[in-house]
Amino acid sequence: MDKNNIKKQNVYISEEEKTLNWEDIQNSFKKTFGNEIYTSWLEKISLEKEYNDYLILGVPTRFFRDWIVSRYLDKILEQVKSFKLSLNRIEFKIIEENKNTNDFKIDELNKVTQIKDSILNYNRLNNSLNFESFVKGKSNEIALSYSKKVCEHLSRYNPLYICGGVGLGKTHLLNAIGLELQPENNVMFISAERFMYHFIKSIKKNDMVNFKDFFRKSSVFIIDDIQFIRGKESLQEEFFHTFNSLMDKGSQIIISADRIPIKLDRVQERIKSRLAGGLVVDIEVPDLELKTKIINKKLLEIQNQFKENIQLNDDVINYIANESKTNIRELIGILNRVIAFSRVHNKILSVNDCKNILKDVFSQTKVITVDKIQNVVSNFFNIPLNEMLSQRRSRPLARPRQIAMYLAKKMTTRSLPEIGRRFANRDHTTVIHAVKTITRLSEQDDEMKKNINQIKSLLLDQ
Ligand code: ADP
Ligand code: MG
Repeated sequence: MDKNNIKKQNVYISEEEKTLNWEDIQNSFKKTFGNEIYTSWLEKISLEKEYNDYLILGVPTRFFRDWIVSRYLDKILEQVKSFKLSLNRIEFKIIEENKNTNDFKIDELNKVTQIKDSILNYNRLNNSLNFESFVKGKSNEIALSYSKKVCEHLSRYNPLYICGGVGLGKTHLLNAIGLELQPENNVMFISAERFMYHFIKSIKKNDMVNFKDFFRKSSVFIIDDIQFIRGKESLQEEFFHTFNSLMDKGSQIIISADRIPIKLDRVQERIKSRLAGGLVVDIEVPDLELKTKIINKKLLEIQNQFKENIQLNDDVINYIANESKTNIRELIGILNRVIAFSRVHNKILSVNDCKNILKDVFSQTKVITVDKIQNVVSNFFNIPLNEMLSQRRSRPLARPRQIAMYLAKKMTTRSLPEIGRRFANRDHTTVIHAVKTITRLSEQDDEMKKNINQIKSLLLDQ
């Protein structure tokens, strides 16, 4: 991992990863764009950094970048997407010759002298995340309808606050709003994390004036994942002022978060009340109908985009929709995996094939509950569950009980008091004692270690 991608002053930037072969992609550019365009432009583009959902490409000059962006960007993105479906944007970095381009840090400081230039790259909206590609269902129809209304009546619902769990379509809706309002309005679309990044950069460069100007001049300000500001006092301060000055001049503000405003702990009260002061809408977990619709829509998109006919049986579609419970991003990820497999093997898949393909995906996302742990542990030691939970202290009951408590602590997100309650209302100190005891025993005692591992794998396999 690149040192620049780790935590930087509390700014978390996604991890770098390397899966693409740039040479292959260059070859495909040559085919798609033809020799002439290829040698004049595309050949000079280098792959600087690769992340799960975006790339940073290197270009020699600013002019070069603008030319590419205005003429070829969509096609380039489409092309690289065929190598990696999770990509959804491309950013450019200008790499002048005769500078030490290996030293990203120095390079970055010198190059990004104006906030405007650096933001330009991040402020790009993703053209495919529009209202048309957003499938309506019971869980999102209110959020969708107000997202559309806000575009028709700017400043009527201000701010519009869209909340919901991960992967349910918040960023998609925000993007769609941005696309709809562009270019007539001066749209700023940024994640709270990026906002922080620029904020810190501006402080370091002593350039707050520029920063303030830049954000405050937008007429539509869209900020994604506002929960990121939790616990960051100076960022909250800056956000509060930006928010107020935008509201004062009548700009429309749209915000997304993973929870409702009052649940934003470690955020100043005055900010919470501002956030809740317009309209709050939420997106709920999708039902089977919506998931099925999304799968069918994605299949259609692939057919249109790649001129490829991918067929999935209804029972396979149903299986995928049922397996992925609460997250549309995950649903699409699973679908992509199944499609990739059917492409390679060129056959119509059965539910059993799918089960095999997805085995490891589901075991990673499997939800382990305290109930499940109690059942598996009591079965494993062959003792009745009610006895395991009872107040009796004989060792054949007490050890399994402690093991179950230990696993509940290690394998679920439940707190100690919650776990205690689930074990016939025991005190949390009993749970602490159990965790300590079993931790110690599993280090000293091979038998204990073996049992714990076996129980763990039973839990993960189920
Ligand atoms: P969030 O920001 O809430 O975590 P995203 O907006 O990133 O979620 O959505 C995750 C993925 O699911 C994206 O690829 C998005 O396009 C897709 N998605 C979510 N909801 C829908 C929907 N209703 N119709 C089509 N695609 C959707
Ligand atoms: Mg998002």
